[in-house]
Amino acid sequence: MNTHRAPTGTHPSRSMPDGQSSTAQDVRSSAAKCLVELLMLISPHRWLLGLLVVTAVLQVAAEAIGIGYVFILLAAGRDAAVPEGPRLTKIVLYASSLPAGVRIRIAATALVSFALLRACLQITQTLASLRLRRHVQLALQQAVFRRLCEMPLDAFLRERRGSIVALLDSFVRNVGALTLQAGQAAASIAVTITYVVLALALSWRLTLLCLLLLAPVSFLLRPAVAVRLRKASRKLHDNLRETQGAIQELLSAMKLVRVFGREEWSQAGFTRHIQTLQEHEYRASAIGGLARPLFNALNVSLLAAVLAVGSLFLPASAHTVPALLVVFLVIAIRLMGPAGTLTSLHTQIAQVAPMLHTLMETIHTTTPTAPRGGTIVFTSLRESVSIRRVSFRYSHDEPLVLDGLDLTIPRGGRVAVVGPSGAGKSTLVNLLSRLSDPTEGLIGVDGVDLRELEITSWRRRVAVVAQDVFLFHASVMDNLRFASPDATDSQVVEACRLAQAHDFIVAMPDGYSTLLQDRGTRLSGGQRRRIALARALLLDAEVLVLDEATNDVDCPTEEAIMSGIEEYCHGRTLLVIAHRLSMVTRADWIYVLDRGRLAEDGTHEELMNRDGLYRRLFLTQQSEEAVSAPGRALS
Ligand code: ADP
Repeated sequence: MNTHRAPTGTHPSRSMPDGQSSTAQDVRSSAAKCLVELLMLISPHRWLLGLLVVTAVLQVAAEAIGIGYVFILLAAGRDAAVPEGPRLTKIVLYASSLPAGVRIRIAATALVSFALLRACLQITQTLASLRLRRHVQLALQQAVFRRLCEMPLDAFLRERRGSIVALLDSFVRNVGALTLQAGQAAASIAVTITYVVLALALSWRLTLLCLLLLAPVSFLLRPAVAVRLRKASRKLHDNLRETQGAIQELLSAMKLVRVFGREEWSQAGFTRHIQTLQEHEYRASAIGGLARPLFNALNVSLLAAVLAVGSLFLPASAHTVPALLVVFLVIAIRLMGPAGTLTSLHTQIAQVAPMLHTLMETIHTTTPTAPRGGTIVFTSLRESVSIRRVSFRYSHDEPLVLDGLDLTIPRGGRVAVVGPSGAGKSTLVNLLSRLSDPTEGLIGVDGVDLRELEITSWRRRVAVVAQDVFLFHASVMDNLRFASPDATDSQVVEACRLAQAHDFIVAMPDGYSTLLQDRGTRLSGGQRRRIALARALLLDAEVLVLDEATNDVDCPTEEAIMSGIEEYCHGRTLLVIAHRLSMVTRADWIYVLDRGRLAEDGTHEELMNRDGLYRRLFLTQQSEEAVSAPGRALS
């Protein structure tokens, strides 16, 4: 993710033409990369992985002893066919010497003991796998969220909310499911190795034969399936983000849709997105779903082949099936479970690899992050904040939004920045809050470059009331205390009185405890603004920046708010950003911006005496307000 592109924009898998250039080699290297990434995620919890392997090995040991009892039950007497291993031979010979009834009782007791032991081991294994998944998911979500917090704000704002949620939720869940499977696969590998060793001890010829038959399946068929699966999964994961982004947008636009009577359009859009997603899901799942039965059938064929080949070694007159062959068959059947787990892991890796890559790319991206602070702790303003030859563009291929701007905000002063919409006023506020840094020039605080100040110490002394008010789905009190959690009740009430918010808050059903549902959408625009203003006043900052803070507020309330702010700003510095000029007439100094440049500056009287942009804007607004609200005049 960087300032200039979406997080998935240059993902290597996306830059490939869809479905054209994936090869078996691509798939193998991507699966290997995916496994390495997964192992790195798991590595802090290797004790859990170790536990999985140990429980698996113990399970196999229990299983192997169980298989020994199959021998005991099958061995009819001293003449029974015995395997090649000398130790096993001794065991079988000893077992054969016992009476049949004793053998059966021993076998029954052992069967129950081993079943219980296996159950305990399996439960431990399941719990360890689930814990591993939880740790990996949490680590991924924390890392992605940290990255989102660090990335430049404008790049973040360009992302669709839904696709960010998809990244944090669906993608991480899929990787979590893969971890669960990988944990089980680690156990399956241990089981497989143990069984193969056991099989080699029984008959190395038959074992080699099995492995030879298995090789073509592993090296030819599986990658062929994985190539298709990976292509389908890549399309699915791209579409998943797209769909979640679109659905989130449709939900946010619900009011607009109703106002314009576009419900059918909205329903059709929703259905279209979901259908496309379903189609991609169907394709990816169908390939994955076909692979499993196919490989199961192949495994059974493999067994049949082993049986057929084994039968060739029997004397033509033999009427009983040798114990060796039966035990080997039991081992082969038991191997199918772990082999199935490994097959699904292979399939799942192909499905999840693109998502894991996107997550890793998001976490490890080396592109610029949001401005970081310097080391100088800001305590208080002694002289002024000065903006020197500041130019700014949002990205390298966009035009300058601010162009060589020079202005000064003296300590304790009341400065206003005005200008038509799009002049760059809010961008200037973003630079002052250090949400972005100037492309050229610098902002000096008492002669120190703002970039050298410790960022939090600066932000805690500069309270900004932004144009777009954000309220949480929480009580009015919690919203007010967001920036100052330790503020006392009386401080909160005082701030609300100054911001003209107290009266309407106490008139709400639960006063300050009223829950602002749906992020305060039931409040009027002016009420939301006044809560936001009170929240900023509560910060007890040294510099107060009001960015169109009284939009949506009626004239008498605006007057009252401005008197409250004047009272609050005694000894503090005030910067008012407004395109409504009634707000700024009382300012000590007014800067007029036009298309990112300083058009003129001076006091209200000085600017009104010139035939400049300010005077034109003022007169236009005055006549507009006189038409829309007779009796309301600009003072
Ligand atoms: P004002 O507050 O004076 O209305 P802004 O500072 O919001 O103006 O915007 C100044 C210019 O910057 C406008 O042309 C606007 O389109 C552009 N702009 C604002 N935000 C962004 C952004 N995140 N990315 C690119 N351009 C932006």
